[in-house]
Amino acid sequence: MKSHHLFTLLGCLALVSCSTQRYVGSHGEKVASPAVVDVSTQPARNVILMIGDGMGAEQVWAAWLANRGELNITTLPVTGFSVTTSASHLITDSAAGGTAIACGCKTKNGQLGITAEGKPVDSLAVQMHRAGKATGLVVTKSITDATPAAFYAHVKSRRQTADIADALVKSDFEVIVGGGSADFSAAQLAQLEKKCQLFELAAPGNCVAAAKRPGWLAGRVQDALEVLSKDKDGFFLMVEGSKIDTEAHVNSLTGTVQETQDFDQAVGAVLRWMQKHPDTLLVVTADHQTGGLSILDGDKEKGEVKGHFSTYRHSGVAVPVYAAGAGASAFAGVQENTAFFTKIQNAAGLGSRACTSK
Ligand SMILES: [Zn+2]
Repeated sequence: MKSHHLFTLLGCLALVSCSTQRYVGSHGEKVASPAVVDVSTQPARNVILMIGDGMGAEQVWAAWLANRGELNITTLPVTGFSVTTSASHLITDSAAGGTAIACGCKTKNGQLGITAEGKPVDSLAVQMHRAGKATGLVVTKSITDATPAAFYAHVKSRRQTADIADALVKSDFEVIVGGGSADFSAAQLAQLEKKCQLFELAAPGNCVAAAKRPGWLAGRVQDALEVLSKDKDGFFLMVEGSKIDTEAHVNSLTGTVQETQDFDQAVGAVLRWMQKHPDTLLVVTADHQTGGLSILDGDKEKGEVKGHFSTYRHSGVAVPVYAAGAGASAFAGVQENTAFFTKIQNAAGLGSRACTSK
């Protein structure tokens, strides 16, 4: 055995995780004809922010290979990177990552909707609601999970599920779709049902895996767009492909690719809708990369991908940013994860407010 191979083997044993897997996409996953949406400088009446939890560039390119060299995400005309560090760690968790994107503040890992020092801060959803826009959340894990909760809760710990559920009941979203019904009392569920125009918690906890809910996310995103677009002032919709992270945490290449493709189908639904609604900004990004995935081999013609995970945790790389539509050009280049907050408000003509304390 060559010495560098031995070193790799020992490194893998020490890390426990060193999983190389192969995935071959089935026929029928190919994107039929991606909708092309260009960049414009008009103000964004509507903003759709799509977050692939744990979706690094590696997850995107694994899905691209399995999908025979075609994805909706990779048709977006503007690309950049987001630096994912938190106030406390080089490697963020989804609470601090979500807070940076939602509220424009770097906070400590585990904290939601508050600054590093603990001051509550307004999210993009709150700012958009204040500007008269309808707001919505569509996710595939519990609606009280860290990423969606960053848009409405203000807690020291992402594990304060009861406080997070309470904050959602007091929020002003028109659309709430995801999982997590078990986190709410019957009275709270009735209140949410009454307040929302579209309310669905499809599972007691997280939604089932992508393979068991074909088309569900893309369908719910279409439903959300239909409801939200009735507001004459426009809307803000956050969509999360929540389970890309879940599958990468258990080092499942199959699950990671399938969840990323499922998320990509939802991006496709948005792009098709945007062709008739050009006054819309779409931003697709991630809160961090999960699993330290790398692509070791593959075949674009056969939809084959050979991937290798180097950790069961998150990694420290910057993640990709893709944008299309009104004001999209602002998202090119390398940016901090806090920049989404100000750039999205600028694109929507709301003026720039960074990390606004309540
Ligand atoms: Zn994670």
